[in-house]
Amino acid sequence: MDDLIVLKNLRKIYKMGDEKIVALDDINLNIGKEEFLCLLGTSGSGKSTLLNMMAGLEKPTRGEIIVNKLHLERMNEKDLTNYRQRYIGFVFQSYNLISTLSALENVSLGLIFKGIPKSKREKMAKTMLINVGLGNRLHHKPSEMSGGQQQRVSIARAFVGDPSIVFADEPTGNLDTKTTFEIMNLITSMAKESNQTLIIVTHDTEISVYANRIVYMRDGNIEKIVANEKAEGEVV
Ligand code: ADP
Ligand code: MG
Repeated sequence: MDDLIVLKNLRKIYKMGDEKIVALDDINLNIGKEEFLCLLGTSGSGKSTLLNMMAGLEKPTRGEIIVNKLHLERMNEKDLTNYRQRYIGFVFQSYNLISTLSALENVSLGLIFKGIPKSKREKMAKTMLINVGLGNRLHHKPSEMSGGQQQRVSIARAFVGDPSIVFADEPTGNLDTKTTFEIMNLITSMAKESNQTLIIVTHDTEISVYANRIVYMRDGNIEKIVANEKAEGEVV
Protein backbone atom coordinates (compact mmCIF):
# COMPACT_ATOMS: atom_id res chain seq x y z
CA MET A 1 0.00 0.00 0.00
CA ASP A 2 1.26 3.49 -0.82
CA ASP A 3 1.86 5.77 2.15
CA LEU A 4 -0.32 8.84 2.01
CA ILE A 5 0.80 10.27 5.35
CA VAL A 6 4.31 10.01 6.80
CA LEU A 7 5.13 11.35 10.26
CA LYS A 8 8.79 11.60 11.27
CA ASN A 9 10.07 12.38 14.77
CA LEU A 10 7.04 14.54 15.41
CA ARG A 11 7.14 16.56 18.60
CA LYS A 12 4.79 19.17 20.04
CA ILE A 13 5.41 21.17 23.15
CA TYR A 14 2.95 23.66 24.57
CA LYS A 15 4.33 26.41 26.76
CA MET A 16 2.09 27.55 29.60
CA GLY A 17 3.94 30.30 31.45
CA ASP A 18 7.07 28.57 32.79
CA GLU A 19 5.65 25.11 32.30
CA LYS A 20 6.33 22.98 29.23
CA ILE A 21 3.76 20.36 28.29
CA VAL A 22 4.96 17.59 26.02
CA ALA A 23 1.77 16.83 24.06
CA LEU A 24 3.62 14.70 21.50
CA ASP A 25 7.03 13.31 22.36
CA ASP A 26 8.45 11.52 19.29
CA ILE A 27 5.89 10.15 16.86
CA ASN A 28 6.79 8.06 13.82
CA LEU A 29 3.93 6.68 11.77
CA ASN A 30 3.04 5.83 8.17
CA ILE A 31 -0.57 5.76 7.02
CA GLY A 32 -1.66 4.17 3.77
CA LYS A 33 -4.14 5.52 1.27
CA GLU A 34 -7.60 4.01 1.76
CA GLU A 35 -6.68 2.98 5.28
CA PHE A 36 -9.03 3.39 8.22
CA LEU A 37 -6.94 4.21 11.26
CA CYS A 38 -8.06 4.70 14.82
CA LEU A 39 -6.09 6.70 17.40
CA LEU A 40 -7.02 5.26 20.78
CA GLY A 41 -5.93 6.44 24.21
CA THR A 42 -6.97 8.03 27.46
CA SER A 43 -7.68 11.74 27.79
CA GLY A 44 -4.50 13.80 27.51
CA SER A 45 -2.49 11.15 25.63
CA GLY A 46 -2.04 13.46 22.61
CA LYS A 47 -4.67 12.12 20.20
CA SER A 48 -6.24 15.45 19.25
CA THR A 49 -2.85 17.15 18.97
CA LEU A 50 -1.72 14.47 16.53
CA LEU A 51 -4.92 14.70 14.50
CA ASN A 52 -4.72 18.50 14.35
CA MET A 53 -1.13 18.29 13.08
CA MET A 54 -2.10 15.98 10.22
CA ALA A 55 -5.06 18.20 9.40
CA GLY A 56 -2.80 21.25 9.15
CA LEU A 57 -4.51 22.97 12.08
CA GLU A 58 -1.38 23.16 14.22
CA LYS A 59 2.37 23.32 13.65
CA PRO A 60 4.82 20.88 15.21
CA THR A 61 7.65 21.99 17.48
CA ARG A 62 9.90 19.59 15.59
CA GLY A 63 9.66 16.84 13.00
CA GLU A 64 8.01 16.24 9.66
CA ILE A 65 4.41 15.82 8.51
CA ILE A 66 4.34 14.69 4.91
CA VAL A 67 0.93 14.31 3.28
CA ASN A 68 0.78 13.29 -0.37
CA LYS A 69 4.46 14.34 -0.61
CA LEU A 70 3.67 17.82 0.78
CA HIS A 71 5.59 18.95 3.85
CA LEU A 72 3.03 20.57 6.13
CA GLU A 73 5.66 21.73 8.64
CA ARG A 74 7.16 23.97 5.95
CA MET A 75 3.89 25.59 4.90
CA ASN A 76 2.72 29.09 5.79
CA GLU A 77 -0.85 29.79 6.92
CA LYS A 78 -2.07 30.44 3.38
CA ASP A 79 -0.68 27.13 2.09
CA LEU A 80 -2.16 25.30 5.08
CA THR A 81 -5.59 26.81 4.44
CA ASN A 82 -5.30 25.73 0.84
CA TYR A 83 -4.25 22.23 1.94
CA ARG A 84 -7.24 21.93 4.27
CA GLN A 85 -9.68 23.12 1.63
CA ARG A 86 -8.32 20.82 -1.07
CA TYR A 87 -7.46 17.62 0.72
CA ILE A 88 -9.30 17.17 3.99
CA GLY A 89 -12.67 16.91 5.70
CA PHE A 90 -13.04 17.24 9.47
CA VAL A 91 -15.74 15.97 11.84
CA PHE A 92 -15.78 17.38 15.38
CA GLN A 93 -17.21 15.95 18.58
CA SER A 94 -19.45 18.99 19.06
CA TYR A 95 -20.45 19.20 15.35
CA ASN A 96 -19.25 22.85 14.96
CA LEU A 97 -22.13 23.80 12.67
CA ILE A 98 -23.00 27.45 12.12
CA SER A 99 -26.14 27.98 14.18
CA THR A 100 -27.70 30.64 11.96
CA LEU A 101 -27.42 28.56 8.78
CA SER A 102 -29.63 25.70 7.57
CA ALA A 103 -28.33 22.17 7.03
CA LEU A 104 -28.11 22.88 3.29
CA GLU A 105 -26.19 26.13 3.84
CA ASN A 106 -23.81 24.52 6.36
CA VAL A 107 -22.92 21.77 3.90
CA SER A 108 -22.58 24.00 0.83
CA LEU A 109 -20.55 26.74 2.56
CA GLY A 110 -17.13 25.04 2.22
CA LEU A 111 -17.63 24.68 -1.53
CA ILE A 112 -17.54 28.47 -2.01
CA PHE A 113 -13.75 28.37 -1.56
CA LYS A 114 -13.49 25.79 -4.30
CA GLY A 115 -15.00 28.26 -6.75
CA ILE A 116 -18.06 26.12 -7.43
CA PRO A 117 -21.11 28.15 -8.62
CA LYS A 118 -24.05 28.54 -6.22
CA SER A 119 -26.57 26.33 -8.00
CA LYS A 120 -24.04 23.50 -8.26
CA ARG A 121 -23.06 23.95 -4.60
CA GLU A 122 -26.65 23.58 -3.50
CA LYS A 123 -27.16 20.54 -5.67
CA MET A 124 -24.04 18.85 -4.27
CA ALA A 125 -25.03 19.70 -0.68
CA LYS A 126 -28.56 18.40 -1.21
CA THR A 127 -27.32 15.12 -2.70
CA MET A 128 -24.94 14.68 0.21
CA LEU A 129 -27.67 15.41 2.79
CA ILE A 130 -29.91 12.84 1.11
CA ASN A 131 -26.99 10.35 1.30
CA VAL A 132 -26.73 10.82 5.06
CA GLY A 133 -30.49 10.39 5.48
CA LEU A 134 -31.46 14.04 5.94
CA GLY A 135 -33.33 14.71 2.72
CA ASN A 136 -36.25 15.89 4.86
CA ARG A 137 -34.19 18.29 7.01
CA LEU A 138 -32.54 20.49 4.36
CA HIS A 139 -33.86 23.76 5.76
CA HIS A 140 -33.60 22.96 9.46
CA LYS A 141 -31.17 24.92 11.60
CA PRO A 142 -28.82 23.02 13.97
CA SER A 143 -30.96 23.86 17.03
CA GLU A 144 -33.94 22.25 15.28
CA MET A 145 -32.17 18.91 14.95
CA SER A 146 -31.08 16.10 17.32
CA GLY A 147 -27.40 15.50 18.11
CA GLY A 148 -27.29 12.55 15.74
CA GLN A 149 -28.86 14.63 12.95
CA GLN A 150 -26.41 17.47 13.55
CA GLN A 151 -23.53 15.04 13.32
CA ARG A 152 -24.98 13.74 10.03
CA VAL A 153 -24.94 17.30 8.70
CA SER A 154 -21.33 17.68 9.77
CA ILE A 155 -20.46 14.37 8.08
CA ALA A 156 -22.14 15.61 4.90
CA ARG A 157 -20.06 18.80 5.20
CA ALA A 158 -16.84 16.79 5.64
CA PHE A 159 -17.49 14.58 2.61
CA VAL A 160 -19.16 17.00 0.18
CA GLY A 161 -15.90 18.24 -1.38
CA ASP A 162 -14.69 14.65 -1.94
CA PRO A 163 -11.56 15.08 0.24
CA SER A 164 -8.67 12.59 0.16
CA ILE A 165 -8.63 12.31 3.94
CA VAL A 166 -11.39 12.59 6.52
CA PHE A 167 -10.40 13.27 10.13
CA ALA A 168 -12.84 12.80 12.99
CA ASP A 169 -12.11 13.75 16.62
CA GLU A 170 -14.38 11.80 19.00
CA PRO A 171 -17.27 12.04 16.48
CA THR A 172 -19.65 10.06 18.68
CA GLY A 173 -18.53 11.50 22.02
CA ASN A 174 -21.82 13.31 22.56
CA LEU A 175 -24.14 10.57 21.23
CA ASP A 176 -26.02 7.63 22.75
CA THR A 177 -25.02 4.03 21.97
CA LYS A 178 -27.57 3.40 19.22
CA THR A 179 -26.78 6.68 17.44
CA THR A 180 -23.05 6.00 17.88
CA PHE A 181 -23.31 2.82 15.82
CA GLU A 182 -25.45 4.52 13.17
CA ILE A 183 -22.95 7.37 12.83
CA MET A 184 -19.94 5.02 12.77
CA ASN A 185 -21.54 2.85 10.10
CA LEU A 186 -22.32 5.96 8.07
CA ILE A 187 -18.84 7.47 8.31
CA THR A 188 -17.03 4.22 7.50
CA SER A 189 -19.28 3.26 4.60
CA MET A 190 -18.97 6.73 3.06
CA ALA A 191 -15.17 6.69 3.32
CA LYS A 192 -15.04 3.20 1.83
CA GLU A 193 -17.32 4.12 -1.06
CA SER A 194 -15.05 6.94 -2.23
CA ASN A 195 -11.75 5.24 -1.27
CA GLN A 196 -10.93 7.92 1.28
CA THR A 197 -8.44 7.66 4.10
CA LEU A 198 -10.26 7.82 7.42
CA ILE A 199 -8.58 8.72 10.71
CA ILE A 200 -10.69 8.72 13.84
CA VAL A 201 -9.73 9.71 17.38
CA THR A 202 -11.53 7.98 20.21
CA HIS A 203 -11.12 6.78 23.78
CA ASP A 204 -13.85 4.18 23.19
CA THR A 205 -12.62 0.65 22.39
CA GLU A 206 -16.02 -0.19 20.87
CA ILE A 207 -15.38 2.35 18.13
CA SER A 208 -11.90 1.07 17.38
CA VAL A 209 -13.22 -2.32 16.20
CA TYR A 210 -14.18 -0.65 12.93
CA ALA A 211 -10.58 0.29 12.06
CA ASN A 212 -7.97 -1.55 9.95
CA ARG A 213 -5.29 -0.51 12.43
CA ILE A 214 -5.51 0.76 15.97
CA VAL A 215 -2.77 3.10 17.18
CA TYR A 216 -2.61 3.06 20.97
CA MET A 217 -1.33 6.38 22.36
CA ARG A 218 0.09 7.07 25.78
CA ASP A 219 1.79 10.18 27.17
CA GLY A 220 2.47 11.65 23.74
CA ASN A 221 3.92 8.47 22.26
CA ILE A 222 2.66 5.48 20.31
CA GLU A 223 2.47 2.58 22.73
CA LYS A 224 1.63 -0.07 20.13
CA ILE A 225 -0.08 -0.54 16.79
CA VAL A 226 -2.52 -3.41 16.34
CA ALA A 227 -3.73 -4.60 12.94
CA ASN A 228 -7.39 -5.50 13.03
CA GLU A 229 -8.03 -8.34 10.57
CA LYS A 230 -11.70 -8.50 11.45
CA ALA A 231 -12.57 -4.91 10.58
CA GLU A 232 -15.59 -5.09 8.33
CA GLY A 233 -16.91 -1.58 8.29
CA GLU A 234 -20.51 -2.37 9.13
CA VAL A 235 -21.04 -3.30 12.79
CA VAL A 236 -24.41 -4.30 14.21
P1 ADP B 1 -6.27 13.94 23.94
O1 ADP B 1 -6.94 14.39 22.68
O2 ADP B 1 -5.65 12.58 23.83
O3 ADP B 1 -7.19 14.01 25.12
P2 ADP B 1 -4.67 16.34 23.63
O4 ADP B 1 -3.92 16.10 22.37
O5 ADP B 1 -5.84 17.23 23.57
O6 ADP B 1 -5.05 14.91 24.26
O7 ADP B 1 -3.68 16.91 24.72
C1 ADP B 1 -2.39 16.36 25.01
C2 ADP B 1 -1.73 17.18 26.11
O8 ADP B 1 -1.43 18.47 25.64
C3 ADP B 1 -2.61 17.35 27.33
O9 ADP B 1 -1.79 17.29 28.48
C4 ADP B 1 -3.19 18.73 27.13
O10 ADP B 1 -3.48 19.32 28.37
C5 ADP B 1 -2.09 19.47 26.42
N1 ADP B 1 -2.61 20.49 25.50
C6 ADP B 1 -3.40 20.27 24.41
N2 ADP B 1 -3.67 21.43 23.75
C7 ADP B 1 -3.04 22.41 24.46
C8 ADP B 1 -2.93 23.83 24.29
N3 ADP B 1 -3.52 24.48 23.26
N4 ADP B 1 -2.20 24.51 25.21
C9 ADP B 1 -1.58 23.86 26.21
N5 ADP B 1 -1.64 22.53 26.44
C10 ADP B 1 -2.35 21.80 25.56
MG1 MG C 1 -8.90 15.03 22.38
